[in-house]
Amino acid sequence: MTRAKVSAVWDAVADAGALSPGWGGLPGTDALTHAQVTERLQSADLEQWTSAAARVGFCSSPVRLVGHSVAVNRTSGEVVRQYASADEPGGVTFLRCGNRRADRCPSCSRLYAADTFHLIRAGVAGGKGVPESVAENPLVFATLTAPSFGAVHGRRAHRRCRPRAGPAACCEHGRPTACFEVHQLDDPQLGQPLCADCYDYESHVLWQWWAPELWRRFTIALKRRLAQLLGADLGDIASLQYAKVAEYQVRGAVHFHALIRLDGPQAGDGFAPAPSEITAGLLSEVVEQVAAEVTLAAAPVTPDGTTLVLAFGAQVDTRVVRASRRTDDPDGPLSAEQVAGYLAKYATKSATDTETRDNPHLRRLHAIAQRLAAQAGAAQDPNSPYLLLGRWAHTLGFRGHFSTKSRRYSVTLGRLRRARQRAQIHIATAARAGTTVDLRDLEAELLADDTDEATLVIGSWAYAGSGWANAGETALATAAAARAREYARRRACARRETQSA
Ligand SMILES: [Zn+2]
Ligand SMILES: [Zn+2]
Ligand SMILES: [Zn+2]
Repeated sequence: MTRAKVSAVWDAVADAGALSPGWGGLPGTDALTHAQVTERLQSADLEQWTSAAARVGFCSSPVRLVGHSVAVNRTSGEVVRQYASADEPGGVTFLRCGNRRADRCPSCSRLYAADTFHLIRAGVAGGKGVPESVAENPLVFATLTAPSFGAVHGRRAHRRCRPRAGPAACCEHGRPTACFEVHQLDDPQLGQPLCADCYDYESHVLWQWWAPELWRRFTIALKRRLAQLLGADLGDIASLQYAKVAEYQVRGAVHFHALIRLDGPQAGDGFAPAPSEITAGLLSEVVEQVAAEVTLAAAPVTPDGTTLVLAFGAQVDTRVVRASRRTDDPDGPLSAEQVAGYLAKYATKSATDTETRDNPHLRRLHAIAQRLAAQAGAAQDPNSPYLLLGRWAHTLGFRGHFSTKSRRYSVTLGRLRRARQRAQIHIATAARAGTTVDLRDLEAELLADDTDEATLVIGSWAYAGSGWANAGETALATAAAARAREYARRRACARRETQSA
């Protein structure tokens, strides 16, 4: 964050009335927090604290470290930089918490979304070290859903929820099997089953537990099918790459949103063109067929239980993606910006974004996951695949990663993070020298592999805790993060206006 941004954010917080008499406090803060905020705002090292907080993007709960490090030039042995937490306010160095979830840390989750956006976009259109020729290869955006485990209330494009012709029918529990309402977006009924006793909670949790394996099988089957179509070993003539994100639906089941790309075989560092026989349209059809066919026989939870055959839901949605500019045709192919935007947004959602606590359906899924884990434990089979299910009750049985990619899809998140750290060093060095730096000229250097690093960093660090010193500092950081977002939004908006003018 630049100095100008820091002070803009800071002005905004101060403007909120923090320093003026009769201030009512930041929204949602109690008297003690209010006093802590005031104390921080009147402290002698306020300026340094603000800079330190800005450096971690006003993260909600930064990690506190104490220690020091020295950067040494590998060839000359010269000390390039020295850094010690002792020089920071309070003698601690803050690191971002790095949480991807928007409900945990708005600042870090935004950064995660931004990195995910760049990662996805580079795999669609090239850039960030990915050759632009990837844009020529067939690319499909697919959504693989969970099957139905029972009727739930839903929004169906301004139509009624679950209308049913003929005489009103009830299930064996005496509850109606139809719903004639048109649910609004904030309706708490959304995602709740029409009858919780009819809903198959066990299958839902077990499906979620095996969903990562189902995805893995899908990718294997897809490669096999493409090899059949091409009449050759896939590795000889093509390579399948993907990036996927898991998103919770309101009924508490995950969807997989995936970008699936067919490249040519590996050619040195480059991507050879994809075999011309497989067009994006054909790839899209094959993805749909394979997703509909793949199954998995899940072992029973207890020895006397039955084997469950799991599959993806019948609704497999696939669309062709094109890498060129945004299209005006709403039903036309998706653009790189559109898919990267969708996936980045999905990647920061979580099960608890839909508030498990106040949601009877999600609460029940959570309880069933715990019960199944307890049953598996009681059966005393050391090979049971469900022994750890209880640890994943909070994710309603989903143990996979929320965003994953195959090795060659695009640049990695780690590399993007390292590039950002290097960029920050460049910006700080330029600021000290009173010059500016154009990071676009440095992209290749910023994204370079670690092994090319000319400097060696030696240090000793210890964990000193998590979070800000008190609720007041947390409230200030949270308010500043919100202002920084607002500031970034306005700037982006102004930039768009300038561009279109
Ligand atoms: Zn954070
Ligand atoms: Zn309904
Ligand atoms: Zn029922």
